[in-house]
Amino acid sequence: MFKTIVFDLDGTICHHKASYPKMFFEVFGEQYNKHSNTWLRHMLHNGEHSGLEAVQSCFPQMKQDEQTKALDTFTRKWAEAQAPYTGIFEAISLLKANFHCQIGVMTNGPSKFQWAVMNKLGILDHVDFAYASGDVFPAECKPSVPLLRKLEDKHSISPQTALFVGDNLEKDIKPAKAAGWHTLHVAPHEQPSADLPLENFTQATGKTDCLAINWSSLTA
Ligand SMILES: [Mg+2]
Repeated sequence: MFKTIVFDLDGTICHHKASYPKMFFEVFGEQYNKHSNTWLRHMLHNGEHSGLEAVQSCFPQMKQDEQTKALDTFTRKWAEAQAPYTGIFEAISLLKANFHCQIGVMTNGPSKFQWAVMNKLGILDHVDFAYASGDVFPAECKPSVPLLRKLEDKHSISPQTALFVGDNLEKDIKPAKAAGWHTLHVAPHEQPSADLPLENFTQATGKTDCLAINWSSLTA
């Protein structure tokens, strides 16, 4: 039924065990609040970007090599603070084996930054393709129907047999729906949970409610 399943990353596949503002202060020595508007404008840039633009804009007085070093440190620390939801990779294997489908990841953020997280998780050991919005391709952020069309072209995806799984209604679910994809809005958690047969998982894709899910409860 599904020939392609694309997952969001943050809050869907993984979660972080550290405070972003605290880490920002440790690396840059200044309060995140003071810089958050400028920082986020660059980190959420809709196009190709590395993340260095955010550092350059917030800390123009820093030397260029220090800016690069600080971003590397921040990126490494942030990637180290990520943990996959328990059972997510087993769930992905189960979906892949059951539907004989390709699995992808589409995450918003600067290329280097998001790839540090994805590499830390070993994402490419589990999925067929993965992109950060800041990558040369697709160089575009969610929410966007044209972004999904780019993925369709690149990976021979038909909307009718495609499913987008994500935790963000505005960024993940609404555009996928508008593009004619199946969607599943999830709220992953780590609490003990009854088995969720694949059949129920599939049924949930036809509904609008958010599915609270412990990924390790997914069963064939
Ligand atoms: Mg998310």
